[in-house]
Amino acid sequence: MAGAELIGKEECKEVMDVLGTGIFARYSFDKERQGVWKVRDFEKAFAKYFGATYALGVTSGSAALKVALTALDVGPGDEVICPAFTFMATYEAVLEVGGIPVMADIDDTLNLDPDDITNKITSRTKAVIPVHMCGAPARIDRIMKVAKKNKLLVLEDNAQGCGASYKGKMLGSFGHMGIFSFDHYKTITTGEGGMIITNDLDLYHRAEWYHDHGHDHLSTVHRALDGRTILGFNYRMNEFQGALGLAQLRKLKKVIAAQRKNKAALKEAFAPIPGLKFRLIPDPDGDSATFLAFNLPAEEQTKAFQKALKAEGIDTTRFKDNFWHYVPNWEHFLAKSTAQTKNPFKDPRNRKVTYSRKSIPHAEDLLGRTLIMGVNVIMPAAKLKAIRKGIANAAKVL
Ligand SMILES: *Cc1c(COP(=O)(O)O)cnc(C)c1O
Repeated sequence: MAGAELIGKEECKEVMDVLGTGIFARYSFDKERQGVWKVRDFEKAFAKYFGATYALGVTSGSAALKVALTALDVGPGDEVICPAFTFMATYEAVLEVGGIPVMADIDDTLNLDPDDITNKITSRTKAVIPVHMCGAPARIDRIMKVAKKNKLLVLEDNAQGCGASYKGKMLGSFGHMGIFSFDHYKTITTGEGGMIITNDLDLYHRAEWYHDHGHDHLSTVHRALDGRTILGFNYRMNEFQGALGLAQLRKLKKVIAAQRKNKAALKEAFAPIPGLKFRLIPDPDGDSATFLAFNLPAEEQTKAFQKALKAEGIDTTRFKDNFWHYVPNWEHFLAKSTAQTKNPFKDPRNRKVTYSRKSIPHAEDLLGRTLIMGVNVIMPAAKLKAIRKGIANAAKVL
């Protein structure tokens, strides 16, 4: 649960600043807001923290994906390679802009397999979305190499890896653009919210214009007289989200340090189990430690262990069963059941693409025998002790 566990007086103070001015919108009201610009400050602090030149706050992580894909000019006729293991928003965003998501396999990191990108490239492939699932990096260096060689744009979906890094560089800062989510479950939270980062001024401008009806935000003139180049929509972050984000970002280091400590303790409890292997993390020092993932040699054994853990009060997820994070389980997606009957799947500019379990053998195998558990920030010694005991008891079924 991460940042949500630490909501306290710091968040209250930031939000009270906003209530004090009565200006909840991020733009305009320069005089009335009495110098309070929470979204702007949050963006500045965020860009600095993540080593990016520009950051743009938006309404959600899903909106961030859509705004970024729009800035990258992905649209009808374009294909975007996405991993089979991700949250649905990654695929939905591609459809939202009129493109077609192409499903690729994962590797031992549980993230997009760089080698499978090459298998999935067609003349229509425009971009690839590596997703750093459960707080740990994909093989992002290799993914960037494959993308560069094939002239693909890279949008990092780092909704789950806020504060994680790969060889000292923050996740989200490798691709042409990177996105973050601040929904309630994420590493830091603003209730709902998202961020886009990039080092490219042109991409930043396109995202900034698009997320706010084309306003250029550059001028000193009244907002109604702003310059404009492209049409857009409204995905603006509000000042309350900015306020919460500022307070939460200051706690990010603490969140991650606590999770790392608690994850190490949990790993110790699982380590003696014969045949159990922890998820491969290409750079363990960069793990944000929001989740602990491990696998057993066989699927049936994994199911039995999960059941035994549950009986001890320890919840884990086996993502092959999961409704929201594994493409083969999205019956509405597979049925191409979008809200509009005229949808990208039927658009003649797009190629017909299939999503079969057979095309993702590694995900089918690995997600069937992997269990994932959330790591809390706050873990009292008594709770850890009970979990350790529960793990030892559950292990008797193996
Ligand atoms: C949470 C999440 C999103 C969407 O973020 P929201 O803020 O909930 O819209 C996108 N991608 C991944 C991988 C996520 O986990």
